[in-house]
Amino acid sequence: MPNPAAHLPFYFGSISRSDAEEHLKLAGMSDGLFLLRQCLRNLGGYVLSMVHKIQFYHYPIERQMNGTYAIAGGKAHCGPEELCEYYSKDADGLCCTLRKPCNRPSGMEPQPGIFDSIRDNMVRAYIRQTWNLEGEALELAIISQAPQVEKLLATTAHETMRWYHGIISREQAESRLYSGTQPDGKFLMRERKEKGTYALSLVYGKTVYHYRITHDKAGKYSIEEGTKFDTLWQLVEYLKLKPDGLIYYLKEDAPNPDMSAASGTPVPPAHPSGKAPRRLTTQNSDGYTPDPTGLENKSRILPMDTSCYESPYSDPEELKDKKLFLKRSNLIVDEVELGVGNFGCVRKGVYKMRKKQIDVAIKMLKSGNEKTQRDDMMKEAQIMHQLDNPYIVRVIGVCEAEALMLVMEMASGGPLHKFLSSKRDEIPVNNVVELMHQVAIGMKYLEEKNFVHRDLAARNVLLVNQHYAKISDFGLSKALAADDSYYMAKTTGKWPLKWYAPECILFRKFSSKSDVWSYGVTMWEAFSYGQKPYKKMKGPDVMTFLENGKRMECPSRCPPEMYKLMNQCWTFKWEDRPDFVTVETLIRTYYYSIAAKTEEGAGPRGAATPT
Ligand code: AMP
Repeated sequence: MPNPAAHLPFYFGSISRSDAEEHLKLAGMSDGLFLLRQCLRNLGGYVLSMVHKIQFYHYPIERQMNGTYAIAGGKAHCGPEELCEYYSKDADGLCCTLRKPCNRPSGMEPQPGIFDSIRDNMVRAYIRQTWNLEGEALELAIISQAPQVEKLLATTAHETMRWYHGIISREQAESRLYSGTQPDGKFLMRERKEKGTYALSLVYGKTVYHYRITHDKAGKYSIEEGTKFDTLWQLVEYLKLKPDGLIYYLKEDAPNPDMSAASGTPVPPAHPSGKAPRRLTTQNSDGYTPDPTGLENKSRILPMDTSCYESPYSDPEELKDKKLFLKRSNLIVDEVELGVGNFGCVRKGVYKMRKKQIDVAIKMLKSGNEKTQRDDMMKEAQIMHQLDNPYIVRVIGVCEAEALMLVMEMASGGPLHKFLSSKRDEIPVNNVVELMHQVAIGMKYLEEKNFVHRDLAARNVLLVNQHYAKISDFGLSKALAADDSYYMAKTTGKWPLKWYAPECILFRKFSSKSDVWSYGVTMWEAFSYGQKPYKKMKGPDVMTFLENGKRMECPSRCPPEMYKLMNQCWTFKWEDRPDFVTVETLIRTYYYSIAAKTEEGAGPRGAATPT
């Protein structure tokens, strides 16, 4: 996850309170001198360290449930930078305004926290091992799910640390600590017999002291109601700096003898089944499970957990059979209708492959349809058959029997706009960002392959589930020749004008950049929870509206960052409009910055303490 403070010259990273005070001393101790550092207790939090009247003040800044940042009792800000800007104008409860940043000495980078330096490798290794992914599928899984996996890893990262000994008894802990030398501060952490509860065992004066670690309902860890932490490794890191009520601080770890040769080199926590647990909620000793979405009680299914993340042909054995025309005998067509489109109805079905059967959606061409419709459906099939991306509905093939049938992967959650309008009070805005990020990944893939969709709209984004979207309906799509950057339609047609960029309407010119415009309209539909764009206007009037420099208003629940992106997508001149590489990066950055918010409880808020 990008750190929103990483670029600030006065951000020191993961340094201790006393180191912060040293830097402030060296910088002159003037009133309002300040620096920012990583909070050692809360994931994603910071501490503002400052000086007033030759005293130090340290204000914890928490990342809150809604993704904003605030000092206890203070106003919320969208990032740490904005927060510092605010307090430079108004003390608003601080000892004084922020007057002078204490910048890092030249050449000094922010100190990475223990988790910062291992995170990326852990996320990659974990996704690879858990879902058995390689190549493009692995890269896309990392991009789309890093925040969720990272949160899970943060809460289990202690299992990779040398000082973590797993489930051992108190007596075993003592014998491990008594073996070899017994310096004060030698320690280990163990899991207690009651699963999910932990203890810290610490040597002082040749005696071993045992401290029970409690885990509260908000998911925070603490010892004897002391400082609370999001994770066990943060608790250990903190207690290495000061005893905080323990008999001594943690000084030297007793390495776990069962740890592999790679001890000290964190590896993803292994699961007895060989697959890591696919749940992203942590359950504490009371059996209380914090709910990441506020909607689901069960654990969260990630796109990689579904059978349609990877291509049905990812198995080389299955690939041998891949062809556009499918045998009717391998297809079971159900009576259940999933929806109705221009061609006719879409039915549920099952397609039998060599080793497995997959659920499919079957677009049936109505009998008695004209030849042009058959040709159109075949064109759609040919286009889609060339595409293979987890965020695009894959076509398995076509089948010519009682009707011409287009057989596709099943996305049973239905179109995005209908889903959102029916669940507007239940789906948090983060979830919308997550889905729109996936659409951006799919569109970036199309752009890279030089395909133009020409009908991107919320009605053509289908859901596999609440957290997994796929782009569908390639009926108007075009594959561009390698050196073409746009497609020029010969005539106008039955076009979705409200989704079309000015150059489509004015010059019949279609490109990935005009898809970007449609993506902006799709974003608007999504963030307005399924409202119709340009509500009262007729399609042709929209052009005048746009030419007058007007744009749709910000939907009420839409974050300003997302409205800004929509407006970038609605840049009138296509040359100045961002491409999908840029759009995906922008929405990803925002999505990562807020992704943890629904999974973090509002922790205790320590007031600033002068020292
Ligand atoms: P279309 O003809 O592509 O506009 O599809 C019409 C409707 O059929 C859609 O709005 C969906 O409700 C349903 N549908 C189409 N494709 C699928 C699919 N791959 N999986 C599930 N439902 C689908």
